[in-house]
Amino acid sequence: MRITTLAGGIGGARFLRGLRDGLAAGTGAAEITVIGNTADDIDLFGLRICPDLDSVMYTLGGGIDEDRGWGRADEGWRAKDELAAYGYGPDWFGLGDRDLATHLIRTQLRTAGYPLHEITAALCRRWEPGVVLLPMTDDRVETHVVVPDGDGTRAIHFQEWWVRHRAALPAVAFHQIGAESARPAPGVLEAIREADVILLPPSNPVVSIGAILSVPGIRDALLAAHAPIIGVSPIIGGAPVRGMADACLSAIGVPTDAAAVATHYGARSASGILDGWLVDTVDAEQAADLPGHGIAVAARDLLMADPARTQDLALATLALAQELRR
Ligand code: GDP
Ligand code: CA
Repeated sequence: MRITTLAGGIGGARFLRGLRDGLAAGTGAAEITVIGNTADDIDLFGLRICPDLDSVMYTLGGGIDEDRGWGRADEGWRAKDELAAYGYGPDWFGLGDRDLATHLIRTQLRTAGYPLHEITAALCRRWEPGVVLLPMTDDRVETHVVVPDGDGTRAIHFQEWWVRHRAALPAVAFHQIGAESARPAPGVLEAIREADVILLPPSNPVVSIGAILSVPGIRDALLAAHAPIIGVSPIIGGAPVRGMADACLSAIGVPTDAAAVATHYGARSASGILDGWLVDTVDAEQAADLPGHGIAVAARDLLMADPARTQDLALATLALAQELRR
């Protein structure tokens, strides 16, 4: 079975680990391809940093800091302190000593002219994530957030809005800078076309999944794919489980609820990208209208609180896909 997934950082990575391990524990031999969000990427201190690709790589490779959910386990912050002692900013981005090695290698390979998909494959040779991890594009695409500024507005990098300001500045709009001319990385469209199942983990609908969909060709490929497309709600009981997806959804006029996110993605029968949607049991009633609009619904425990529950959730997406295929 060929499974293709889109993924942001924490939500995507945890789901993928459950999927990989759930399949390994059963009989299901599967080839998993992950199309990772790169619109959170940023240049800092001359280094190219790809937070979402790294979250997937570290989580699946066993190197993640489980409590923070991002960055390396057993991390130290001496380089960051040293930069701060020089008064050299920005000081708000978590740049760990161990993590720094990844950014140094990526930047060096990039300077030597390698495309991001090859660099990512090279880094994954160490981590052996058990999936094929592809960046959505080799081209530079960055999410910028338009925020109020005096009588007007200004645009800041997504990381500045998210990490520095904790999403507290009201977001007027999100723009994926560079998306219009970006091309899907090699392998991305093929993975969508040739998949038996396509999964959308509970990643941020605006700045993770939305950013991946901003790359021309990806949305059309999803629409045309022969595989069923099943998504998992990142919203439970009207709130994101982690992070500030509510601030992102508000900016694009989507209510923070599980059914509204599904409607935002839309049914494939109506030129959207979903065939099925998993909601938490607390949201079952609220999602009752979705099947009437072409989106099959399964209600489950959606909290990825431990490995067993996460694996159950991941396998439930495959079960719904199986049901839809019949
Ligand atoms: P990021 O790039 O690190 O922000 O990660 P993603 O975009 O992949 O995922 C962020 C989303 O994951 C947030 O909107 C959370 O609500 C969602 N999320 C985190 N943990 C869980 C969980 O245990 N269950 C569900 N359903 N969603 C989760
Ligand atoms: Ca992210």
